[in-house]
Amino acid sequence: MNIATQAVQIGLEWDTRTGAVTVPIYQTATFRHPGLGQSTGYDYSRSGNPTRQALEDGIARLDGAARGFAYSSGMAAIANLLLLFKSGDHLIVTEDLYGGTCRLFDKIFTQYGLSFSYVDTSDITAVTAALQPSTRAVFVETLTNPLLKFADLRAISAFCTGNDLLLIADNTFLTPYLLRPLDMGADIAVYSATKYLAGHNDTVAGVVTVKDPLLAEKVYFHQNSVGAVLGPQDAWLTTRGIKTLGVRMDRQQENAGQIAEWLAAHPRITRVYYPGLPGHPDHALMKRDAGGFGAMIAFEVDRHELVEQILLKTRLISFAESLGGVESLITFPEVQTHADIPPEIRARLGINNVLLRLSVGIEDCRDLIEDLRQALEG
Ligand SMILES: *Cc1c(COP(=O)(O)O)cnc(C)c1O
Repeated sequence: MNIATQAVQIGLEWDTRTGAVTVPIYQTATFRHPGLGQSTGYDYSRSGNPTRQALEDGIARLDGAARGFAYSSGMAAIANLLLLFKSGDHLIVTEDLYGGTCRLFDKIFTQYGLSFSYVDTSDITAVTAALQPSTRAVFVETLTNPLLKFADLRAISAFCTGNDLLLIADNTFLTPYLLRPLDMGADIAVYSATKYLAGHNDTVAGVVTVKDPLLAEKVYFHQNSVGAVLGPQDAWLTTRGIKTLGVRMDRQQENAGQIAEWLAAHPRITRVYYPGLPGHPDHALMKRDAGGFGAMIAFEVDRHELVEQILLKTRLISFAESLGGVESLITFPEVQTHADIPPEIRARLGINNVLLRLSVGIEDCRDLIEDLRQALEG
């Protein structure tokens, strides 16, 4: 069954007693036991809650996973995954990583003896060259942020299998609708569900999917032990969002493709990063492996003063962090999302003072282009 169809089905068969079409919000901390040593399957909402479980089962199905897990944020999900490692372990990670993930790795988990090598994971030779005796995992963003490099997951997976490494894929930008990392050899996929999955800029959430049931058991142990679980209201909102994933993604991508072309032809725009453009270095690979190019665009303007002008003058497109929702958002990575990346890495990557990042929403594309035009030229 197509992912778009499966997405609509989430929670549909949950309430067999009333036949409710959407999963009810089980706003309860605890559950009565039918008898001594007996359980309904639910005991306490940190350990399991039916609304959260509908989401967890649904996302597991979308990704072809043994199990899914929902957390209070994408960062909580990633932090929980790092508990699979112990002091002395080394991870190879994507260099143009989401700033918050970089901060979590470098400022927090290094204190517990983990170490990280930052490499261009769209370059398999750079990945293999970073291998150390203590390497235990590769953590990649399938499509990177903000420069939109695409990783060859199959090649990285072959390297991981040969060296007994876990492969963890942050698939936030693509979602199962465009790419299923577990099908391509990843052991674990992680998402900031705040973005495309929930899709309405109305909730913060994280989800994880795990291919192997034994590994999933460990992840569950950590989820329950740490307790950064998603509450029932937010689990419901996330499920509700996922139901329209297919139509939102289709529209957002179509808009993004048109906007990328318009930007590329504009005299004040010196560079456009969008993998759907034939000139993008990963265009062919992404065409082969993914169901689309996503709806994130990064672009450079020809002078720094234009950055502030665009951020202040766009009216439809909001100047705000985050991405993936129905509303288009624009942000300035150097001082916002990527401020926690060390300056020398930022400079090497091309995250500079003329780079803007656009998350394209579902508005009418002509209105979005007109908004950009008046902001750029006004
Ligand atoms: C936003 C984001 C995160 C963090 O998720 P939160 O829900 O904000 O905690 C992690 N990875 C990527 C790629 C993101 O865009």
